[in-house]
Amino acid sequence: MTDHDGPNHPEIRAAVARLCADFPGSYWRKLDQDRLYPTAFVAALTSAGYLAALIPENYGGAGLPLSAAAAILETVHASGCNGAACHAQMYIMGTVLRNGSPEQKTRYLPQIAEGALRLQAFGVTEPTSGTDTLSLRTVAVRDGDSYIVNGSKVWTSRAEHSDLMLLLARTTPRAEVTRKTDGLSTLLVDMRAVKGLTIRPIRTMMNHNSCEVFFEDMRVPAENLVGVEGQGFRYILDGMNAERLLIAAECIGDAKWFIARATAYARERVVFGRAIGQNQGVQFPLAKAYAQMRAAEALLLQGLSAYEQAKPCGDLANMAKMLSAEASWAAGEAAIQTHGGYGFAEDFDIERKFRETRLYQVAPISTNLILSYLAEHVLGLPRSY
Ligand SMILES: Cc1cc2nc3c(=O)[nH]c(=O)nc-3n(C[C@H](O)[C@H](O)[C@H](O)COP(=O)(O)OP(=O)(O)OC[C@H]3O[C@@H](n4cnc5c(N)ncnc54)[C@H](O)[C@@H]3O)c2cc1C
Repeated sequence: MTDHDGPNHPEIRAAVARLCADFPGSYWRKLDQDRLYPTAFVAALTSAGYLAALIPENYGGAGLPLSAAAAILETVHASGCNGAACHAQMYIMGTVLRNGSPEQKTRYLPQIAEGALRLQAFGVTEPTSGTDTLSLRTVAVRDGDSYIVNGSKVWTSRAEHSDLMLLLARTTPRAEVTRKTDGLSTLLVDMRAVKGLTIRPIRTMMNHNSCEVFFEDMRVPAENLVGVEGQGFRYILDGMNAERLLIAAECIGDAKWFIARATAYARERVVFGRAIGQNQGVQFPLAKAYAQMRAAEALLLQGLSAYEQAKPCGDLANMAKMLSAEASWAAGEAAIQTHGGYGFAEDFDIERKFRETRLYQVAPISTNLILSYLAEHVLGLPRSY
């Protein structure tokens, strides 16, 4: 892996595409049917160092910029694979890197970089509060040199396939804080060691390994508090631009995959004595999805550039994520329609990718909340919630 191949990272893209070629549609179809975790794929990405792309070199990672991580995830998706099984490690790790103590960084980051430790679970969303994170109910109460955690999370993806969870919990009751964003804290939970943790998988329309997680008097050492007690919400917010940009890159990859598959099919499939791709009714949805994808990609590149220059990029990250998710959905829709009946046949992989890419209009943040962000923070309209 190198950082000297230009801002678009063509060498990284080529290397990731070669790795992905070992994981064809048949591999993903089998996992999808049985809702199994892509262990071999994640192991291959880990041993090639891709999941440690953003970890600085002094902690054993590649020390690459966010655009390189975006290139990795985009290529994974453009190759027909799915990064959802492991993408979170790239951005969750950032909270430890930015806000963790020197001891925490030395203890965890090198092990994460070498693949000995997986930090893939992100416990924020709760069943009762949903998008309203500040109303979450999971509490962590200090008791000597530990926190005792009680509550539950939902949609904690990869919880069964992670050693560590970054958990957001309330450490000061909401009524006792002056600013409503205070009183929440981030804890690194070693899921291998704790008692009082129950994980229950949720079967979803796509293979996503998401779970409900329950905490019952779960004791977490106080040394696992990341940063300052009560400031955890800010730490989570700080990581959100990177998360949005990386998810946008995955959606761009999905859109490229759908468009490539559908245009190839439209050229080959002959009906009424000519290729279906000769009909404008078939061409136009694909051309439109392509234009949408390119527009979203341009915003993504702007967002990555601003992020790497440490400029404010909340608007760009949010817009890139929203428009990329819409572009991948438009491309998926055009791909299904282009394939006619075969779009629904599992062996063509279109229906699987179609199910997978739909998620990104809801998670990690839904379109409405992005629009609310833009309305309030960019257009200066009153806060609506
Ligand atoms: C497969 C999957 C994986 C996930 N992985 C994780 C994970 O690893 N960790 C984690 O913490 N979370 C995860 N999530 C949770 C995800 O981030 C949330 O589902 C998402 O943020 C929406 O929250 P919610 O489901 O509670 O919806 P709600 O908050 O209940 O919202 C429901 C709908 O109402 C809309 N809505 C709500 N309030 C408003 C408002 N004020 N104005 C306009 N519209 C509004 C929303 O946009 C949404 O469309 C995952 C979700 C899924 C489905």
